[in-house]
Amino acid sequence: MNNLRCDLVDAGLLIATGVDGIVGRGAVFEDVLMRLNAIIARWGTRHGAEVVHFPPVINRTHLERNGYLKSFPQLATALHGFTCDAHDGAVGEDLSTDLMMTPAACYPVYPMVAARGPLPIGGALFNIQSWCFRREPSQDTSRLQSFRMHEYVRLGTEGDVLAFREAWIVEAGALYESLQLPFRLDDANDAFFGRAGRLMASSQRERNLKIELLIAITSDTEPTACCSFNYAEDHFTDAWQIAMPDGSKALSCCVAFGMERTTLALFRHHGFDPARWPAPVRDVLYSDGR
Ligand code: AMP
Ligand code: ZN
Repeated sequence: MNNLRCDLVDAGLLIATGVDGIVGRGAVFEDVLMRLNAIIARWGTRHGAEVVHFPPVINRTHLERNGYLKSFPQLATALHGFTCDAHDGAVGEDLSTDLMMTPAACYPVYPMVAARGPLPIGGALFNIQSWCFRREPSQDTSRLQSFRMHEYVRLGTEGDVLAFREAWIVEAGALYESLQLPFRLDDANDAFFGRAGRLMASSQRERNLKIELLIAITSDTEPTACCSFNYAEDHFTDAWQIAMPDGSKALSCCVAFGMERTTLALFRHHGFDPARWPAPVRDVLYSDGR
């Protein structure tokens, strides 16, 4: 699997930094990623999704209220500043920044929506992208610590949010098919921490709450999740007391595209020179003529 990373670095598509899971990107890689991003964004324009952007750091209390430090402490990362000394410069670490790295693009949506009061009639739909950070250093080229997610988040009744998820499973399948990337869908679970986490993971899987779209990138036998379709039930809406206009319970779903992984899949399956990719794939990505 390291060969793929070496080849991508040799070709100038990725830039090594000396840290597992942290890579720079050359212009060609970034151009393809941005084109994918634009295609994903078009759906939101068609469906009236509200676009919001947040920096890649999050209020620590918001992440705690979302349950992240209980469920995924092994992936969490807090930002520290330094305590300083006039002679020696930085002498200690100071956690009072109250900031953590954002681990998934959708987390900041919930406190924002909660602050607005009850949902409007019909619920809400957001288009949100962010750099995300997960502390999972790996030699696997497709497992990064710092990467981008492009997400849609739907809040509403159970019917609303499940219909949204079904529609996106079809939509994403059509997108990956048009990019000629062989994929399969599978039930999945999040990497919940510890013994209690194992129970949560198996219940999530049994109840079909997380579905992933998998593509072979670094392994043919263990394909990589490039996109996930997540039904959070009332996990976030309960934590943030988000209700429908009539006071009934609101629920939520998100669909999350891994931008680096989807881009890597294109280079892995079609070669390192986008000018030589299959014409139908180029038509999808370069329909603006550039
Ligand atoms: P998740 O919230 O785990 O379902 O993540 C959503 C999507 O983000 C996944 O389907 C991946 O495409 C992408 N992703 C998650 N973790 C990583 C990672 N460590 N490196 C690169 N992409 C990731
Ligand atoms: Zn999400």
